[in-house]
Amino acid sequence: MKALLTGGAGFVGSHLAEALLAQGHSVLVIDDLSTGSMDNIVHLKGRAGFEYVIDSVMNEPLVAELVDRADVVFHLAAAVGAKLTVEAPVRTIETNVHGTEVVLTHASKKGRLVVVFSTSEVYGKSTDVPFHEDSDLVLGPTPKHRWAYACSKAIDEFLALAYYREKKLPVIVARLFNTVGPRQTGRYGMVIPNFIRQALTGEPITVFGTGKQTRSFTDVSDVVGALIKLVQEPRAVGQVFNIGNVEEISILDLAERIRTMASSRSEIEFVPYEKAYEAGFEDMARRVPDLTK
Ligand code: UDP
Repeated sequence: MKALLTGGAGFVGSHLAEALLAQGHSVLVIDDLSTGSMDNIVHLKGRAGFEYVIDSVMNEPLVAELVDRADVVFHLAAAVGAKLTVEAPVRTIETNVHGTEVVLTHASKKGRLVVVFSTSEVYGKSTDVPFHEDSDLVLGPTPKHRWAYACSKAIDEFLALAYYREKKLPVIVARLFNTVGPRQTGRYGMVIPNFIRQALTGEPITVFGTGKQTRSFTDVSDVVGALIKLVQEPRAVGQVFNIGNVEEISILDLAERIRTMASSRSEIEFVPYEKAYEAGFEDMARRVPDLTK
């Protein structure tokens, strides 16, 4: 198959590109390098079946042309992470909502299968753990910008499912839980690269809040393996899927584990949420997927 990867120079996108090429598929990447980087895909340049363009998914004529050349679209391009949402709220909402609108519009004209990427953040403050795809989403108030990220992704999901229902466009919604692996950057707040950098440089390891909140991390190679299987499964069309790991770890245990593995003498520093994120960051206690679907 020929896959178009919007956001293909990002962390997950670049691993997906690699895995698709390894399986003999062709890959077309569009990325504006806002949070992605050429460093992530430089090793793929010149490989048979690999092409990339540096541009935005807001460039409608270009998206129309690229979609036309693909059999399947993995729409990964997005403003990601709680930190970026708080720092650049307008960009987050516009990129996430309008970008998806552009991709779905043009995929719909050609009837191409689209995987719309969402996030476990959409479950918000829900305590109904583990989270099932049909669980209620519990979001916070609009003056707290952190929620704009979850909400923009929920709109993407609604839009994708609306295209499926109304226009018969084949779509799959992939809700990714915390993903980790080589090339992930700590620049946008992601905890594991941050903790590793802190442990290796001897800086304090910054645990936000009490550190009792949990996350479940999945290796990016497992995530991309699941994605490639999903697009080859006709029964997946029109559905939402959690993609994650059921094994949870508290953030404090994670800090200790990384400190030990790095043989580091870094101290563990507890940072109140209000200091970690400017605009009223509230953390979710547990975030674990139900994978029974
Ligand atoms: N976190 C932390 N220290 C950091 C970065 C993150 O304690 O330097 C915490 C954060 O508050 C959250 C968890 O680690 O509880 C995961 O954060 P990340 O931004 O990686 O992912 P998300 O919050 O989107 O699950």
